[in-house]
Amino acid sequence: MANTPTAQDEHRVVEAAPTGLFIGGEWRSATGDRTLVVEDPSTGEPLTEVADATPADGAAALDAAVAAQDSFARMAPRDRGEILRRTYEIMTARADDLALLMTLEMGKPLAEAKGEIAYAAEFFRWFSEEAVRIDGGYAIAPNGASRFLIHKQPVGVCLFITPWNFPAAMGARKIAPAVAAGCTMVIKPSELTPLSMHMIADILTEAGLPPGVLNVVTTSEAGPVMEPLIRDGRARKLSFTGSTPVGRILLAQSAEKVLRTSMELGGNAPFLVFDDADLDKAVEGAMLAKMRNMGEACTAANRFLVHRSVAEPFAEKLAERMGTLTVGRGTEEGVQVGPLVDGKSRAKVDGLVRDAVEKGADVVVGAEPVDGPGYFYRPTVLRDVPIQARMVREEIFGPVAPITVFDDDDQALAAANDSEFGLVSYVFTENLDRALRVSERLESGMVGLNTGLVSNPAAPFGGVKQSGLGREGGRIGIEEFLETKYVAIGFSG
Ligand code: NAP
Repeated sequence: MANTPTAQDEHRVVEAAPTGLFIGGEWRSATGDRTLVVEDPSTGEPLTEVADATPADGAAALDAAVAAQDSFARMAPRDRGEILRRTYEIMTARADDLALLMTLEMGKPLAEAKGEIAYAAEFFRWFSEEAVRIDGGYAIAPNGASRFLIHKQPVGVCLFITPWNFPAAMGARKIAPAVAAGCTMVIKPSELTPLSMHMIADILTEAGLPPGVLNVVTTSEAGPVMEPLIRDGRARKLSFTGSTPVGRILLAQSAEKVLRTSMELGGNAPFLVFDDADLDKAVEGAMLAKMRNMGEACTAANRFLVHRSVAEPFAEKLAERMGTLTVGRGTEEGVQVGPLVDGKSRAKVDGLVRDAVEKGADVVVGAEPVDGPGYFYRPTVLRDVPIQARMVREEIFGPVAPITVFDDDDQALAAANDSEFGLVSYVFTENLDRALRVSERLESGMVGLNTGLVSNPAAPFGGVKQSGLGREGGRIGIEEFLETKYVAIGFSG
């Protein structure tokens, strides 16, 4: 493919994506042939239509997952691992087409979409290696009268619900460990970005995943389709990535049948720049932590807390970088910032900016939507954002960097921890003692120390407080899909 894909390239990748529901190993229409439209956020024009599942279709998907569970749990771990390994290889070989499809349905620049495909594929590789390392234990009881055998079994049928902001990676982060552990599943991607998940389902099938192990339902009725599956009782686990308000609803629904839950929820990441920071490194980190995915990331830096002595040069350097970013359609060469995902998201970002400015924030750069088709918003830096501004508490989910100043470490830590969220924090300092002290006291599941990027399939991703429950990736990622069974063995010597 040329650097800038042609209209023919775009047409080809959209046509190649399955548009049905994937149930029991087959692509099928939704009951009543219902469809929903998938839009290109850079133009607001329809890209294609996909099947729009009803609650009856959701039930059929759960039936298929339940039917496949027993035999899949018995498949040899090496065989499950090899399916994952082949999936990694196919995804890597087709990265250009998969990335283009993602850019078309979600808007992120092509280079970032390629990065996400590589990141998503790595989950399949990592968990292909973990599938064969599920271990257990054997122990002598303290009184010597019995023996303990401890082993790990798959949790069972899983339900997955994923957001639109990382259409491939958020699904891969759940599917790969579930397959490695021997679980079957129903996944519901966001109605805004179903096509990337459809391609992954197709690739897993090509890689040898048996029918019924993965079932995909796209729907415009997320609640009515998923709630009965959560309350059904045959699925034993719910893993959700999305907003905290929806996570709370799903936790309440899961309580009825006491499902195992993993919750990857919203964030409000503080980005701390101390007076001894390397400012160029901090600005580089800020660009990554703020602008990856146009700011539409749970890990996005949401509050820049900068020591008073370096606030001025930091704001100037950041504004210079933000102001010269190229905004445009993600398929075009050189574009660094794509559109926001829809009109509602853009209106929310603009509303948060207006609110902060009305309450006294200074605009350093940006602070307005871009005219024309698509949902573009100018990269924005705000200074002196008052504590009363809504964006101090709420996820911005857009290309907006609000800066406030602090005078000492305690003040910085208090401000950073003053949030119901606790996903990730970023710290920039050249002082090792301060780096460790601050990292230990930050209330977040992850800390980026002199880096603006924490995500890595080999590391445990997740939050504390109202940012979630559980971890995805790393050595413990597979544990979320395993139950521990203990067998007590009578022993008479
Ligand atoms: P969202 O509105 O919570 O939606 C997430 C998913 O839940 C979508 O598939 C959505 O379907 C579905 N959904 C919505 N209401 C539902 C209901 N009542 N029952 C069942 N499913 C329901 O979040 P989003 O706007 O897509 O994503 C952005 C949020 O995700 C942000 O808060 C971000 O921080 C968070 N996020 C967290 C992580 C993490 O790892 N912690 C990673 C990425 C994103 P439809 O889209 O089809 O309506």
